[in-house]
Amino acid sequence: MDQSSIDALRAQDIAPRGHFINGHSQDGETGARHQVLSPINGQPLALIAEGTPADVDMAVRAARDSFVDGRWSRMAPAGRKKVLLKLADLIEARALELAVLGVRDNGTEITMAYKAEALSAAATFRYYAEAIDKIYGQIAPTSGDVLGLVHHAPVGVVGAIVPWNFPLMIGSWKIAPALAAGNSVVLKPAESASLSLLKIAELAAEAGVPDGVFNVVTGSGSVVGEALALSMDVDIMVFTGSGTTGRRLLEYSARSNLKRCYLELGGKSPNIVFADAPDLAEAAKVSAAGIFRNSGQVCVAGSRLLVQQEIYEDFVTEISRHAEGFRVGDPLDLNSQIGAVHSLPELQANLDFVTKAEAEGAERRTGGNRILTETGGYYMAPTVMANVKETDTLFQNEVFGPVLAVTPFADEDEALRLANATVYGLAGGVWTSNLSRAHRMVAGIRAGVVHVNTYGGADLTVPLGGVRQSGNGHDKSLHAIEKYFDLKTAWIKL
Ligand code: NAD
Repeated sequence: MDQSSIDALRAQDIAPRGHFINGHSQDGETGARHQVLSPINGQPLALIAEGTPADVDMAVRAARDSFVDGRWSRMAPAGRKKVLLKLADLIEARALELAVLGVRDNGTEITMAYKAEALSAAATFRYYAEAIDKIYGQIAPTSGDVLGLVHHAPVGVVGAIVPWNFPLMIGSWKIAPALAAGNSVVLKPAESASLSLLKIAELAAEAGVPDGVFNVVTGSGSVVGEALALSMDVDIMVFTGSGTTGRRLLEYSARSNLKRCYLELGGKSPNIVFADAPDLAEAAKVSAAGIFRNSGQVCVAGSRLLVQQEIYEDFVTEISRHAEGFRVGDPLDLNSQIGAVHSLPELQANLDFVTKAEAEGAERRTGGNRILTETGGYYMAPTVMANVKETDTLFQNEVFGPVLAVTPFADEDEALRLANATVYGLAGGVWTSNLSRAHRMVAGIRAGVVHVNTYGGADLTVPLGGVRQSGNGHDKSLHAIEKYFDLKTAWIKL
């Protein structure tokens, strides 16, 4: 990855994009398009098809037809594996192009997008491709006069809705296991970040995914997303996004065909630093990256920092120093450590959180303001708000921006109580040298993942999912593929 290659890619015009249905780019029922703005400079970037319920119906029909005739669903797992491995190779070969395209509409710093978006998408397709011919059914322990076979049957048509942060990474966490398991998929990306996933659909066709098996319908959540989730012919929904939309999906399911909904939602994850942390300087550095990278637009961001009283002042000073040290700027500049906030409404919402936190008595230690306004882009200074109380809005609500809430605690009991004092349960972190305490905290924090003496690391081998109002179900790991199968029993009289 070098700056001149990035600059050459960013200079390319982006042609208007249609939906990808039944193996082809299509304009859709009305031919209407919406304008996508680039968070890098606030300028018009691309025109994307504005989908309608009829477009969703067309995509669902294509998916159902492809599923029923077995062109993919009944292909030998080794055949699907071959195609998906080819797709992984194509993604890897075009990784920089995909990463730059994605950054142009979502604003993530390129160093992160290249690895966490493009290369991670390739790795995800490879992982589930490799898995699919190693999953066996079962023979039940019945009496000898019958044979009970338990099959893994693909569920049918999978509806997937994903957000604008990490569209490629999150999208592939859903598309790859769904396709590997033999399903057909209709995907709705975020209206403001569809470009890289539309490209994946083209690459999937090039790799040999048959027509109709993987479809993308672009457009708004309230029209395209709602129509998909209300469809009587979609068998399961897999979703990543806000709790508000997650609730709606459950309603749509109840109003339609009771489809199962797997929800990966928001968080307000506690990152707890005890005075006996093995290396407080390291804790401050990693904790700063754990909230501020990608401008805080990371679902597992450690957005609530809980610090033991005796080190509180020094630690707040240290993490504020790190916050001020980040180079925020053009996400396609290799020197930028933090890129843009995704959109103007998101930026305004972040600033409003800071204003409200101050009104509620929190102390702004650094940041809290829009920066680089002259670029026309959406940038915010990494922000540290100290002395945030349990009852404060900033303690309880997800910002999804570069705003850290810091709260002191006295002892382990209070740390654990504060950690669990929100409705969320996505992630957490504990910094301590005390092994017993580390285990107690891992057991006690209500979250899908708890980091110990680090924050934010993970790979494909471990599941990611929330508890409580952070959702249900998991992406990643072999566990994630289970939801894309129904268990089907054959009961055979011998
Ligand atoms: P969002 O819920 O507004 O949008 C997510 C997707 O849902 C978009 O594609 C959107 O168009 C669609 N949508 C919106 N309204 C809809 C409706 N009525 N019916 C159907 N679909 C609809 O969320 P966002 O702002 O794009 O994403 C940020 C949120 O995602 C944050 O809360 C973040 O924590 C969460 N997130 C969670 C994870 C995780 O793994 N748990 C990962 C990334 C992001």
